[in-house]
Amino acid sequence: MAAQPCWLSSSARPWRQSAGGRLTRATGIRNQSTCRLHHMNTRTATCSCGQLTLIVRGDPIRVSVCHCLACQRRTGSVFGAQARFPRSSVTISGRSTEYVRTGDEGSRVIFSFCPQCGATVHYSVEGYDEGSISVPVGAFADPEFPVPSFSVYEERMHSWISLPAGVEHMA
Ligand SMILES: [Zn+2]
Ligand SMILES: [Zn+2]
Repeated sequence: MAAQPCWLSSSARPWRQSAGGRLTRATGIRNQSTCRLHHMNTRTATCSCGQLTLIVRGDPIRVSVCHCLACQRRTGSVFGAQARFPRSSVTISGRSTEYVRTGDEGSRVIFSFCPQCGATVHYSVEGYDEGSISVPVGAFADPEFPVPSFSVYEERMHSWISLPAGVEHMA
């Protein structure tokens, strides 16, 4: 049997979103096992309206939570949770607007958010590990997502938060 073209490398949108927000693979896609590179553990992150999407292949390099006040303000939640992936395993589609925040040590953090609904779907730190990209874990809307291994800025942590056993606590 001849190998079919990989659906991830085609221009077809591999996912569609139901009215309830659930993402399902578009119909007509088959033979997903022929391309090992693309079909290992694929996950999709989207903004609230679904306009900006990001598909990642493979597991994250690092999953962390950050309790800093900037993450609290950006997310509107009481801490940020983010997963870092190699840039080479990420495919982004849709329009985004950038917000640049200068961090404590002068680093520039570039957040890409949907201009329509405002949700941040990815970010990176200029000049630091540019081969990687960070994605807010919530954008995957997946309660089964890998558990964080690092907890950062705990001096800003809300008193009621408890973290998974075995997490590495960092300043
Ligand atoms: Zn959006
Ligand atoms: Zn933070």
